[in-house]
Amino acid sequence: MLSKKMEQALNNQINAELWSAYLYLSMSADFAHKGYSGFAHWFDIQYREEQAHADLYIKYILSRGGKVTLQPIREVKTEWTDLLNAFEDTLQHEQAVTKMINELYDLAVKEKDYATVSFLKFFVDEQVEEEETAKQFIDNLRMIGDSGIGIYMLDKEVKGRVFNAPKNA
Ligand code: MG
Repeated sequence: MLSKKMEQALNNQINAELWSAYLYLSMSADFAHKGYSGFAHWFDIQYREEQAHADLYIKYILSRGGKVTLQPIREVKTEWTDLLNAFEDTLQHEQAVTKMINELYDLAVKEKDYATVSFLKFFVDEQVEEEETAKQFIDNLRMIGDSGIGIYMLDKEVKGRVFNAPKNA
């Protein structure tokens, strides 16, 4: 059985993942509106990935006999000045999520809840990837600067992103 404290912490993480999903959905809609169909698609997949993360937490809590309690989702920004601005927000957001997952991991270790430690490993690895991806986009976008053709090419490139649901989601 999950401890009440662990159950509460995992429930908070469901909310954080859904808040992430909401943030990326908002970015997707904003860039679709601005005519960046590639990035609208890229952020849409990001949105689906975060929903899948929330699903993993829900399934995990239930599998351990815990209770899932959904909380209100905080509002998100609705407009970004440009792609660089969106990826800077993305990096900052993912760094905050990494911190939350590390705290969850700390709690699981402290409680000797090794099943939760094992479950969280996927998310520890996932965050390394999320932060690296955001950093790469920031680097690429700084390199491109104001080049219209550069942005056009990058927008075309990211249109090819495919959604891969995380295992068990
Ligand atoms: Mg996530």
